[in-house]
Amino acid sequence: MVGETIIRDFPILARTLHQDKKLIYLDSAATSQKPIRVIEAMDAYYHLTNANVHRGIHTLAEKSTEDYESARKRIANFVGVNDEKQIIFTRNTTESINLIAKSWGQQNLQPGDVVLLTEMEHHSNIVPWYMLREEKDIRVEFIRVTSDGELDLEHLKSLLKFAPKLVSFMHVSNVLGTINPAKEIVRSAHEAGAIVLVDGAQSVPHMPVDITELDADFYAFSAHKMCGPTGIGILYGKEGLLESMPPFLGGGDMIRKVTFEGFKANDLPYKFEAGTPAIAEAIGFGAAIDYLSSLGMDAIYTHEKQLASYAYNALSEVNGLEILGPGADRRCGVLSFTLEGIHPHDIAQLLDQEGIAVRAGHHCAMPLHDKLMIPASTRASMYLYNTNQDIEALILGLRKVIEVFN
Ligand code: PMP
Repeated sequence: MVGETIIRDFPILARTLHQDKKLIYLDSAATSQKPIRVIEAMDAYYHLTNANVHRGIHTLAEKSTEDYESARKRIANFVGVNDEKQIIFTRNTTESINLIAKSWGQQNLQPGDVVLLTEMEHHSNIVPWYMLREEKDIRVEFIRVTSDGELDLEHLKSLLKFAPKLVSFMHVSNVLGTINPAKEIVRSAHEAGAIVLVDGAQSVPHMPVDITELDADFYAFSAHKMCGPTGIGILYGKEGLLESMPPFLGGGDMIRKVTFEGFKANDLPYKFEAGTPAIAEAIGFGAAIDYLSSLGMDAIYTHEKQLASYAYNALSEVNGLEILGPGADRRCGVLSFTLEGIHPHDIAQLLDQEGIAVRAGHHCAMPLHDKLMIPASTRASMYLYNTNQDIEALILGLRKVIEVFN
């Protein structure tokens, strides 16, 4: 029930570009398109309910609070979390990771302490730790990526001997398409005494994820990559850890009491949600969760694995094209590649003329591109609404690009 059958759920996919070119959207790793259900839920909120949450006792305020908190419950359930007070609304994955660096990191890391990342990380899981290093003189180390685009687990083992305080890694790579063995990494890191943060920006939208089963201490993801709106994301944290951490931002809603002498922080999850939250966005996020659940994450994952494999084989046949990352059987629907002698920006621009949206650049992973010794790559990324026909259009588009440059 995914692919062709659900295209009509996404109004934007009916539009054309450059007069008559059908939009072929292959940039879902940057942000996904939104189903009508999500757009309507947010529209209905502003038409019928708009009021601030957690404060008023009038009808609209109560309804707004109920809808906001119901979204939190459904999101918790979606990722296998029983207690929704462990689900904190943030702006996005980036803010979730920054929250951990600023709150947990400030409180728990001392000069010389090791934070372990991987060479494939997105800037949002590197820069907050570099910023903390400037303040606290911590050590940041990177688990190597092999020539196959996978994590070198032997290297992880040797780095764990440094007894890192934190291991923070991406579940799925936004460049290589690698699906990392998250459970194994969490287990090894725990055995070495580390706390574990998982960047789930590219996993939760595409595969069933059970955070409780994974046993991650912290887990971050964004709504906009999973059919929801921009401006809202999630930080999951184990209750004991969240309880022990100081607030991240101060202001309204995050306090229990304020006097002329000081303040007492609110209970979870509100302790980490200062100020008026993104209410319409939370409601839109809830609608996105309902939408994805109605299709089933297993079905979405199966569809994308098939698409990834189809795309991998088709792209492999293009002369001069090199796919970054692991083979078809060990990856998801993120396919980054280089095309001999043609700059990714030129590829993306010419594909755009055909109505095909791909991404060109370093995809917020400059260190990884340095490691691969390439300045940039072109990325085609798929989601539940893509079809084999979209891949065929991409291949045709690439053949035209090659023709222009030859
Ligand atoms: N991590 C990964 C793996 C990502 O792909 C992205 C988005 N490209 C992010 C983090 C950051 O997500 P956001 O911009 O929603 O904070």
